[in-house]
Amino acid sequence: MTVIDAASATIFVLEDDSDIARLICNSLAEYGFRCEHVSTGRQLLERAQRTAPDLCIVDLGLPDMDGMQVVRQLQDGSPCAVLILTGRNGVTDRVLGLELGADDYIVKPFEPRELVARVRSILRRYQRAAPAEAAAEARHIARFGEWRFDRERHALTAPDGREINLSAAEAGLLMTLLERPNRILSREQLLGERDIDPFDRSIDVRVSRLRRKLEDDPHDPHLIKTVYGAGYLFSAQVSWQ
Ligand code: CA
Repeated sequence: MTVIDAASATIFVLEDDSDIARLICNSLAEYGFRCEHVSTGRQLLERAQRTAPDLCIVDLGLPDMDGMQVVRQLQDGSPCAVLILTGRNGVTDRVLGLELGADDYIVKPFEPRELVARVRSILRRYQRAAPAEAAAEARHIARFGEWRFDRERHALTAPDGREINLSAAEAGLLMTLLERPNRILSREQLLGERDIDPFDRSIDVRVSRLRRKLEDDPHDPHLIKTVYGAGYLFSAQVSWQ
């Protein structure tokens, strides 16, 4: 999932309203992003099987299935970055979308420049998370406690040998934590460079998802600790191999 520049990113747009789809693609094209448009959930899932996308922009109200189902199936197949772009403005939808592993959530009507900024921020996050330099590539297995994480395969192995499924967003978060253990990381650092508003809970949702997979007792976390008013801290010795 290495993204070098705008033009090389593979972006799929799932949107059943062709006017909105055109607006999305034109907005992105103005900034050098190329995208491919599909209008049903089924088409997107089939398309994503043939070519792994870097990012999918997903509408929720679709003719053939619910967009949430599409997000879930995308993450079960080949996890990729997901941005939900929808008319649905409910907190429940927003939280559910992020719970399912979406990276961001924008409500229509949207401001094209904001869309482009969010897309950039998501791609940059993955670019940073991807093993870019040879040095990093040489050491791609992180061990902490009895756990093992392969940053190339996004594979997390539990102490008892079970393989734990991570969404792309969760793997990206875990990678950031493993790169800087035992340090307080702010929400901004964990999310990327974009300024986040104080009500943005997406990182907290992602942290609690990751805790449920990593911690014996997610309510009394030993690995991902909350530092009130500051952010989070990954409390473990991490060794890279
Ligand atoms: Ca729609």
